[in-house]
Amino acid sequence: MEVVPLILVINCGSSSLKFAVIESEEGTVLTNGLAERLNTPEAVLHLRLPEGEKRNVAVPRVDHSSALDRILEQLGDTISQGKIAGVGHRVVHGGEVFSESVRIDEDVVKKIVEVSGLAPLHNPASLSGIAAALHQFPALPHVAVFDTAFHQTMPLQAFMYALPYDLYQRHKIRRYGFHGTSHRYVAGEAARRIGKPLEDLQMITAHLGNGCSACALKDGKSVDTTMGLTPSEGLVMGTRSGDVDPNLHQFIAEKTGRSLAEITDLLNRKSGLLGLSGHSNDMRALVEAESWGNPHAAMAINVFCYRLAKGILGIAAGLDRVDALIFTGGIGENSQPVRARTLEHLGVLGAKMDVPANENHGKYNGGIISAADSRVLCMVVPTNEELVIARETARFLNS
Ligand code: ADP
Repeated sequence: MEVVPLILVINCGSSSLKFAVIESEEGTVLTNGLAERLNTPEAVLHLRLPEGEKRNVAVPRVDHSSALDRILEQLGDTISQGKIAGVGHRVVHGGEVFSESVRIDEDVVKKIVEVSGLAPLHNPASLSGIAAALHQFPALPHVAVFDTAFHQTMPLQAFMYALPYDLYQRHKIRRYGFHGTSHRYVAGEAARRIGKPLEDLQMITAHLGNGCSACALKDGKSVDTTMGLTPSEGLVMGTRSGDVDPNLHQFIAEKTGRSLAEITDLLNRKSGLLGLSGHSNDMRALVEAESWGNPHAAMAINVFCYRLAKGILGIAAGLDRVDALIFTGGIGENSQPVRARTLEHLGVLGAKMDVPANENHGKYNGGIISAADSRVLCMVVPTNEELVIARETARFLNS
């Protein structure tokens, strides 16, 4: 009997470390968990053990490295050497250096450090996770999977900002795009469900979680996406404004006396759904508040959906036609009013909703939520970024 390798997937945020142990073919998750509020007195581990038991462990002040030690301690035999065949690491920014996943060695680490200026909050966290895991599993292959890599196929006209060219030459200021593993996964899964090769389909995928981005795919490749140099560009998100007027920073500074850093914080952490509604960054809470008659919640949802439709239509410029529109991420998978309202703005594409199918998230119809006479097939496809990372890592096991 062939033994399917187990892969440890590690995803480090600035103050968190998520992990999962995945069987890379079927995607069965053996155990997973999250260490959060790292480097604070409230740091805590939440684990789901292989037997299903949930465990929360206070780990005051631990950093990424000690958090991994503590997780391994808690898991005991489950992920000891010998059972795990490889470690996959999510890395947010690969700059222009990485257009696909790579096996990590000293040179790769050096290059990730070099591009870290493009993601100063994210890449150093990934590097901490890589260092900690290399220390724990020195004999295993470690693979870096980049959020940006999938979008490296964007043509020049899509990735260049209309800025003086030397800013690109000297500082690599350009559009990169993010959520690549998710866009890639749901596009592949949608093609599988449709029963056509991905290369024969032109589609738009909308990843709507806390961060939101849409991607246009042609020949199975990303040709445009809504995020840019950083994950702040494009769509309205939970706490991020998405696109604003480039003169806004100066305008707000003059009106309010805020510093550049304060304005950046305002646009990233206090804007989006949270800023507009003054209520919550969580779409569930906003839909509920709207149903009680909260006009700000209604406005936030409406701006979100309109801007999403606008973002989708913008990147459709990279396609000849739109065969399918895929919704994914916490909001895309679960929020039927968001999908319905977004589609109302996409009549120009000939998109028509099947109302009952949308209500049940396409559950009984392979994810399809569009009407039979819709010119665009609309689908809900749950994302699985960990599985992509596990599969990417498994590819390197025999090479
Ligand atoms: P992340 O981007 O952190 O991976 P998720 O993809 O899990 O996040 O998405 C989280 C968001 O999904 C939440 O902020 C919430 O707005 C939204 N969400 C989750 N469940 C629902 C639901 N049932 N209805 C509406 N929105 C939901």
